[in-house]
Amino acid sequence: MARYTGADCRLCRREGSKLFLKGDRCYTDKCAFERRNFPPGDAGRKRPRESEYRTQLREKQKTKRIYGLLEKQFRGYFDLANRQHGVTGENLLRLLESRLDNVVYRLGFAKSRDEARQQVRHGHVLVNGRRVDIPSFRVKAGDLIAIAPKARDLLVIKSALISNEKTEVPQWLEVDIDKLQGSVLNLPSRDQIDMDIREQLIVELYSK
Ligand code: SF4
Repeated sequence: MARYTGADCRLCRREGSKLFLKGDRCYTDKCAFERRNFPPGDAGRKRPRESEYRTQLREKQKTKRIYGLLEKQFRGYFDLANRQHGVTGENLLRLLESRLDNVVYRLGFAKSRDEARQQVRHGHVLVNGRRVDIPSFRVKAGDLIAIAPKARDLLVIKSALISNEKTEVPQWLEVDIDKLQGSVLNLPSRDQIDMDIREQLIVELYSK
């Protein structure tokens, strides 16, 4: 599956907010957004013209980048969310949160979604005891997500556990750090998704 391969920090600077794409580095003074809080490129320091469309577009771009998706994949999630019962914006966030790479990250087994994606792709993650190497795999309530026995001693995972020691796991998940596994208690409701995303703007943008 195609993915963005440019510099992550440019994306934060472009969106005007920290997207936390690089794990530990995001919490240090090496964070590029902290050092250069203006958009990249020649026109970076010029004040962009505000418009309703621009606000909606930026919110969509920001969300897409947080979850590491390209436009086609993101649009696919939106179309699916739109076909589901309930509030489209909430459905969209729930679908994004239920991706396996996101769940591995949320459980604290990776420092970033990008790192979680690598772990899944490399076959380090089991769902209900079976290896799943598709980052977009959608978990459901009751699923058990575990780090495969062979991968338990990997430095990248140990390092993520140390780094995420104080990070709280969201209410809709439960983690057992000793067993390196976690379960999905329920798919998240909007109030269980602690993200600064105005999903209604994305719905408005795609509904034009
Ligand atoms: Fe964004 Fe993290 Fe880079 Fe800072 S270090 S600009 S938060 S990706």
